[in-house]
Amino acid sequence: MKFAAYKYDSQECIGVLSNCGTEIYSIHELGLDYKTMIDLIKNITEKEKQQLAKKLNTMDYNGLKIEDVQLLAPIPNPRDIIAVSQNYVSHVKETCKLNGVEYIRPKHCSYFWRRVNRAVSHNGSICLHAGISSMMDYEVELAVVIGKECSRVAEKDAMDYIFGYTISNDITARDIQKNLPQYAYAKGLDDTTPIGPYIVTADEIMDPHNLNLSLKVNGEMRQNGNTDDFIFNIPYIISDLSKGMTLFPGDIIITGTPSGIGAGMNPPVYLKHGDVIESEIEGLGILRNIME
Ligand code: MG
Repeated sequence: MKFAAYKYDSQECIGVLSNCGTEIYSIHELGLDYKTMIDLIKNITEKEKQQLAKKLNTMDYNGLKIEDVQLLAPIPNPRDIIAVSQNYVSHVKETCKLNGVEYIRPKHCSYFWRRVNRAVSHNGSICLHAGISSMMDYEVELAVVIGKECSRVAEKDAMDYIFGYTISNDITARDIQKNLPQYAYAKGLDDTTPIGPYIVTADEIMDPHNLNLSLKVNGEMRQNGNTDDFIFNIPYIISDLSKGMTLFPGDIIITGTPSGIGAGMNPPVYLKHGDVIESEIEGLGILRNIME
């Protein structure tokens, strides 16, 4: 199932997409009383999910056309996003080349945190921050949404803690990233974290380690990879993090980006006002944003 947050008639709602993806149904209309996406992720039962799926198959409710609602980021105010750095072989090779060093496969998974005051929605604007950066860059990433509180979980059990998946873009001010020893400011600027367009539940994604993902700028393909290029897979990441840190329902982990970043082009090409970015992941849709 695909869960979305949306605004209709000035009301913020949570809904589920019709099987064909053209309509959205309010979960209240379908008999569920969850107020926020986090509330739903935390509390929805398997039985309720089955009942929802059944209703979607025999739908005689009044849905809204998807183009008539304003999609919001499925989790509009995540408390933070945990990000994996350097997790695709292709991107690590690209970074090594940029830094003039030999490729060495990372032995340890490296994390950082994106501060997210407000997540940017599908079709929403990403801020260029032209006053402090002239090197804004993109990174399409598979985002894992945690479904259950998770502490000291073994790799073999880790996938059971996933609610679903969505798309994110780890927008980065490369000049700030280069000048500071920590990523926090370069990757934590206001209105630079798009998430969406919706959350696809884990049961719909047969193999998250074999998904094509790509990113286009103004229709031009810049990134084109597959999650089979991961250095650290999702069970490893969840297990590794949860050894020392409790994960909670609604927590988002972004899993790294393949090669093709603007900084890696010759000469480098950075984002500019009016650029349209389309981040696409197989089975998860297209997250479209505009640079402003
Ligand atoms: Mg990244």
